[in-house]
This record gives sequence, C-alpha cells and structure tokens, in this order.
Amino acid sequence: MSLDEALGYCGLYCGGCGVFQATAAGGGIEYESGSVTTCRGCNSSELSIWCSDCEIKICARERGVRYCLQCADFPCEKSRRFLDDASYPYHKDVPEMMARLSQIGLEKWSAEQSRRWICAGCGHEYDWFSQLCPGCGAAVGKG
Ligand code: SF4
Ligand code: SF4
Ligand SMILES: [Zn+2]
Repeated sequence: MSLDEALGYCGLYCGGCGVFQATAAGGGIEYESGSVTTCRGCNSSELSIWCSDCEIKICARERGVRYCLQCADFPCEKSRRFLDDASYPYHKDVPEMMARLSQIGLEKWSAEQSRRWICAGCGHEYDWFSQLCPGCGAAVGKG
C-alpha cells in the first residue's frame, strides 16, 4: 500500500477502517449473506462496495484537490453532510485530522495515524468504531 492510497478525499485515514484492516489481513467484510467486499483504501484500485462511487471523491477529483480542506468551498453542503453524519461519529474529527495533515505532510501524518489505530497496551489493531480493544479489552477510541 502506498501512503497516498490510504488517504481519503474526505480526509479520513483508511487504515482505521475495518474493511481495510480485514483486507490487509487477507480477508474482507461480509455485507450480505455470501457476499464479501474488500478495500485497499480510497485512492487505490480495490474499493469496497460502499466507497466505490463516493460523491466526495468524485467532486474532489473534478476540482483537482487531494482532500476537502484544500478546496476553497470547504465545508460545502456535501462535506457537511459527511462530517455531521451521526451514523459515523468519527467523521466529526476529520477537520482536525485534515488540518494536521496540512501542517505536517502525508508521510508524518500517515505514521501518526497508523499509531492512532493500534492499542497502546497490547499492540492489537482496532478500527474507528471500536470502543474496546479487540485484543485486550482496554478502552480505546480517541487518543
Ligand atoms: S471502505 Fe472506504 S473508508 Fe474503508 S478503506 Fe475503503 S475507501 Fe477507505
Ligand atoms: S466542493 Fe465539497 S466535497 Fe467537493 S472537494 Fe470541495 S469541500 Fe470537498
Ligand atoms: Zn489492547
């Protein structure tokens, strides 16, 4: 995986995604009985069923920006819908994540983000819906 493949046009780090983690481990996620989807990141050529036609990605590519914070119209209605979507509470952290990315660059940001989704106690990976570490049961989440 290249660093760029895991940077979402929306500003998410795909390494925190359960589909991405399952794919990297050699599997995928079942989305309906008998159907499994895989993904290697927003800017890769192997995309999940949920992210293959993302309106933010299409828009950002048309505008020639790599992530929404680089767009003069941020936060537009589309990005607001994404950031405020209560089904995905981790989206509200994305403006802060993009600001950090702008500040330190992709390489350092990816290194920080990859550490962000590893349990400090046991080293097990967790995803952005996790409240507890799947390895040791410690409280994880924002940190
Ligand atoms: S499913 Fe979406 S959020 Fe997850 S890794 Fe793929 S592009 Fe990123
Ligand atoms: S118009 Fe909105 S969705 Fe499109 S690139 Fe700009 S901020 Fe992102
Ligand atoms: Zn743990």
